[in-house]
Amino acid sequence: MTALPSLIDMMTQLIASPSISCSQAHWDQSNKGVIELLESWLSSQGFQCEVMPLPDQPNKFNLIATKGQGSGGLVLSGHTDTVPYDEGRWQSDPFTLQERNQKLYGLGSCDMKGFFAIVLDTIRDMPLDELNEPLIILATADEESSMSGARALVQQNKLNARYALIGEPTSLTPIYAHKGIMMERIQVTGQAGHSSNPALGNNALDAMHDVMSELMTFRQELKRDYQDANFIIDYPTMNFGCIHGGDNPNRICGRCELEFDLRALPGMSNQSLMAEIAQRLPRIEEKTGTQIQLNSLFPDVPSFYTPVESAIIKACESLTERPAETVAFATEGPFLNKMGMETLVLGPGSIDQAHQPNEFMALDQIQPMQKVIRGLIERFCLQSNESN
Ligand SMILES: [Zn+2]
Repeated sequence: MTALPSLIDMMTQLIASPSISCSQAHWDQSNKGVIELLESWLSSQGFQCEVMPLPDQPNKFNLIATKGQGSGGLVLSGHTDTVPYDEGRWQSDPFTLQERNQKLYGLGSCDMKGFFAIVLDTIRDMPLDELNEPLIILATADEESSMSGARALVQQNKLNARYALIGEPTSLTPIYAHKGIMMERIQVTGQAGHSSNPALGNNALDAMHDVMSELMTFRQELKRDYQDANFIIDYPTMNFGCIHGGDNPNRICGRCELEFDLRALPGMSNQSLMAEIAQRLPRIEEKTGTQIQLNSLFPDVPSFYTPVESAIIKACESLTERPAETVAFATEGPFLNKMGMETLVLGPGSIDQAHQPNEFMALDQIQPMQKVIRGLIERFCLQSNESN
């Protein structure tokens, strides 16, 4: 087998290969370079690599690299894309890994190209020819923008394993749950006209006032009816993020748009919440004589929950000596769970540094993460089935 580059070398190469994903087309890039690096390194370690273009985006790829066989096994998963970067706010080139003050700086260092380098560096010394259950390295596309990589995997139903770890930056804390996210737009269409006579039009802002009152009532009901003490904000939230409407004080507003998000607790269904909101709008249409449309700005991310009794959560709690917690950001966890894996999120580096200028991974995160990866592979892939 060919020797793998050093950990720092691998991280340098991954970060030097730009793979920004963004809903704004001028930022959006292919992740091909990162996928090719991972494929070549994993192939050199005897993994079977399958590179799969996304159904509707031929320049974006998922990679499934498998070694070993069996019905159980472990997936180590990460996303290959990064967010865009703030030009001028970085002290060094975002695509050049730089070590300063015991930290590795670069775009994707903690979120989350560094994770792949750490995984590869860990497995090079492990007896992977003795696997009793498969070890699968999963690298996805477009987590930061649409999660279309993970969504495609669910559709293709290609992945088969018992347990999964997603190495998002959690400062090495095991994470078993997060809320879902929906981003929605409500559009009210009335009729513009001269403001001197209200009968000359139909005011969309007036109708939006009713829409917002209704949404605020719904928000109160959600807060009253749903709580989960495992979250710091222990109820579902709805935030009005922006509103646009009208053009002039002396003109009846003909059209108004409101955008809001909704973060549901585990156990709640995004689809039911959408249906609840949709069902409240016709009454306002009727009362105000406007047309009201509800649309999603992005495909929703379901909430994520893996029971804390799951063997992988127990194993990670013991390897990190930390109890599992919840987080306030979304991951690909719900999609992996949907494919039948018991999934947890645990990775090196802090979410505080993710999506920020001068993103870094502290060097002291590397060895503890290697210990977790080694421990999980030993437990779920190298030992016999019965001991799982
Ligand atoms: Zn991430």
